[in-house]
Amino acid sequence: MQASLFNVRVPLEDQNDVFLMNTFTDAQLIVSRDVVDLLDRLESSASLSDVERETIAELSENGFVVNDRASEREELRTFFREVRENADTLKITVLTTLQCNFACDYCIQGDHGDYNKTAAKMSMEMAARVAAWTESRLDAVAPKRLVLTFFGGEPLLNMPVLYYLAERLHASAVGRGVEILINVITNGLLLTRELVERLNPLGLNGIKVTLDGDRDAHNQSRPLRGGQGTFDKIIANVRDVAPLTRIAVGGNFDVDTADSYPALLDFLAAQDFAPKLSKVTFKPVIREKTAQARGMIPLTLVGGEGKPDKPLNGACMTSAGTGVSRVCDTCNFADEKMSFLREETKKHGFNTADGVHMGPCEIHKSHAHTIGPDGSLFACPGFAGEALQSTGHIDGRQDEYRSQALKNFERLSAWEMCNDCAFIPVCAGGCTVAAHNELGDMHAPNCHKPSFEAGVIAMAHDAARELAVA
Ligand code: SF4
Ligand code: SF4
Repeated sequence: MQASLFNVRVPLEDQNDVFLMNTFTDAQLIVSRDVVDLLDRLESSASLSDVERETIAELSENGFVVNDRASEREELRTFFREVRENADTLKITVLTTLQCNFACDYCIQGDHGDYNKTAAKMSMEMAARVAAWTESRLDAVAPKRLVLTFFGGEPLLNMPVLYYLAERLHASAVGRGVEILINVITNGLLLTRELVERLNPLGLNGIKVTLDGDRDAHNQSRPLRGGQGTFDKIIANVRDVAPLTRIAVGGNFDVDTADSYPALLDFLAAQDFAPKLSKVTFKPVIREKTAQARGMIPLTLVGGEGKPDKPLNGACMTSAGTGVSRVCDTCNFADEKMSFLREETKKHGFNTADGVHMGPCEIHKSHAHTIGPDGSLFACPGFAGEALQSTGHIDGRQDEYRSQALKNFERLSAWEMCNDCAFIPVCAGGCTVAAHNELGDMHAPNCHKPSFEAGVIAMAHDAARELAVA
């Protein structure tokens, strides 16, 4: 018998207690220090009392004790295989356009220069082919649910395609007895009651809008082309639709704007629609070296033994090539600020990511697809701006570069290089897009372990508080 590789422990202050979590089974316990000592003694041959044997049986049931490391590693491999093959959910993210009506300074795309004149936009004819392809996947995979996410660019700049796909795929899913959930990730400027009222009967699950700090910071960071601010209009739109659907707020901070987020939280908490916000999450902007970034947060590669520390310079993985919004809730950077903002968000009464249950993300799942405006398929939204990373096309055309990219993505397993890290089941080696952009190797781990550690500490203190009031 051995203690699991995936145990994490947090000593609790002023108590003789320890918070124990297993990231593989997700079991969480508050135990006395004796139990932790017992876990440490497991491998010694010392004899055990009856009480200790009972305790070990309970710990084994929850995954804190395993037979041996070799079989635990084998179970981990099985877990990743099952994650890859799981057919419960078919996830389709459609980029209706790469055009954007914002001119964010951290985004090299959007409404700068003549970008929007040439940026791709899905045609109705292509939308019909995307719908037919999705229907063929519904038939082949037979999932329990279809999660359809509209993203861009700014997805609301192509309403005809958005409505067409929502209506047709709602009918296709319902006709096959499949639940459909629709998400829209938008900058919020064109968000209207009409949109929400039309999507609600089709399975609208929620809308995610982006606010980059308080009014001043946001207006500076996410202006229109002429420099006009967008904060007031977005807030007015959110107020308008909040009674009708779930609204999640995301935000992208950098060294200039991070300190404005508590003021944004004060503002949001004071709004009449505050109780309607389903989630509030903030993430750092990571800029591409070539974008000559201003105010970049220096990020550091952690845990790469023998490698020099290296600042991470790439574009934020979820916006790479796709404009302004963020599609992914699993990207996790600038660990200290992240942890601080996470705690501030909780203090303001909002639901937010706990910083631990972050993955494995959709790039590890065979039945998650991102479709670009021209019908190209991608492994995740973060790669959608890089044509050469396309893993296929909905018309089934055979291109050598796409076949190569597909093979490349199918062998992703950065976590294999993470040795004995206890966070492998919830991290899987970090964000592949970030590794690709920033480390130049999508197969390398992109490590932000301190952020996971801070997340577990926060979970431990929350659990202890809950226990104290129970
Ligand atoms: S690889 Fe990165 S951007 Fe892509 S889904 Fe995973 S966490 Fe998100
Ligand atoms: S990348 Fe993730 S799994 Fe790998 S060492 Fe870092 S925290 Fe652990």
